[in-house]
Amino acid sequence: MTKNVLLIVLSAFVLSLTVLPACAGNNVLPYREEATSSTRHEPFIRQAFELAISSGKKGNHPFGALLVYQNKVILTSENTVYTDRNVHSHAEINLMTKARREIPPEVLRESTMYASTAPCMLCCASIWYRDIKRVVYGVSYETFAKITGYRDKSIPCDKLYQETGKPLEWIGPVLEEEGIQVFYYWPHDSFRSSIIKNLEELGIGKPLQNR
Ligand SMILES: [Zn+2]
Repeated sequence: MTKNVLLIVLSAFVLSLTVLPACAGNNVLPYREEATSSTRHEPFIRQAFELAISSGKKGNHPFGALLVYQNKVILTSENTVYTDRNVHSHAEINLMTKARREIPPEVLRESTMYASTAPCMLCCASIWYRDIKRVVYGVSYETFAKITGYRDKSIPCDKLYQETGKPLEWIGPVLEEEGIQVFYYWPHDSFRSSIIKNLEELGIGKPLQNR
């Protein structure tokens, strides 16, 4: 074996130790992304829960929503039905109203909306009108119905989009157990006692401490 051949073999060996592991790393990258995909929403959905609690503490219904663009929160909103004396001042509608004024449509279309609880029919319509294409929610419709006793035949967001032929990435429930706890901050209106009773009877959720 000549000196040159030895050099080539040695180079190939060194290359195999450096480049190949990097290639192997690249091969497993999609798997790693997949493994963390459910957790990448958690900081944002937790912020939606915080907004919901803040809303409840102000005497409104405990719902919060926010918009994320390129991994940054660009807009937040709370429910303000009592403080605004407006039954339509849901967190998601408030968010879409602010977004219409403050966010360019091209940014809005590429943003993700996070909602503490799956949005109601009114909110779905406002989200639909603003062309939001990805919604992540904490508490599901089914769980919300158990907590509130709400049994109306509302149209879920994913069905609304499906029926009207608009694309929607509909992701949830995310951290639902944590999201349920915000309902302990329901204001002192005519629904509160039955909601607390339902939470206790169902054995779901606990009031968060130190908030
Ligand atoms: Zn709503």
